[in-house]
Amino acid sequence: MFTLKLDEIPEEGLELEWKEERASLLTYLKDLSRIDFDFDTPLRSEVRIKKAGRLVFISGKVQTVLQLQCVRCLKEFHYPLSTTFELTLYPVKEAPSEEETELGSEEMELNFFEGGEIHLSEIACEQVFLEIPYQPLCQERCKGLCSICGKDLNLSACECVKEEWPSGFSALNKLKLD
Ligand SMILES: [Zn+2]
Ligand SMILES: [Zn+2]
Repeated sequence: MFTLKLDEIPEEGLELEWKEERASLLTYLKDLSRIDFDFDTPLRSEVRIKKAGRLVFISGKVQTVLQLQCVRCLKEFHYPLSTTFELTLYPVKEAPSEEETELGSEEMELNFFEGGEIHLSEIACEQVFLEIPYQPLCQERCKGLCSICGKDLNLSACECVKEEWPSGFSALNKLKLD
């Protein structure tokens, strides 16, 4: 894990570029990952860090290829990911009070650092998590698996006779009919 001490950041700021292999990220992923995914390539990060009083500004870019599972056909597929970000880190003790946080927008996410250390690997991984689609699809028009015979409909159609329901209502309608 890549950690930077506050003292190591000069007044004029710092630019860093690093690469982390999947193996070195695994322990961290176990704690944080909300869905199943894996890294296909190392995680590449580039950041610019600057101190401003007690705060730390970080902007940068993360890039990797993930392996995700399609929610429709259950196939694993490669998902190239590249995203830029900008964060303001607060020292833990000076976190805005709960009241202040509630007044802010829900999207406002606060980031902290503790003990004069910035955990750059964590920050980079978090940016990746934020970019993982909630419902990953191998392709936008993935036809999924047949609900009757289980065949991958992307490969070929099957013979099953299905009643068409507007997507999203299928489960509900089936329940009512049963
Ligand atoms: Zn699919
Ligand atoms: Zn079928």
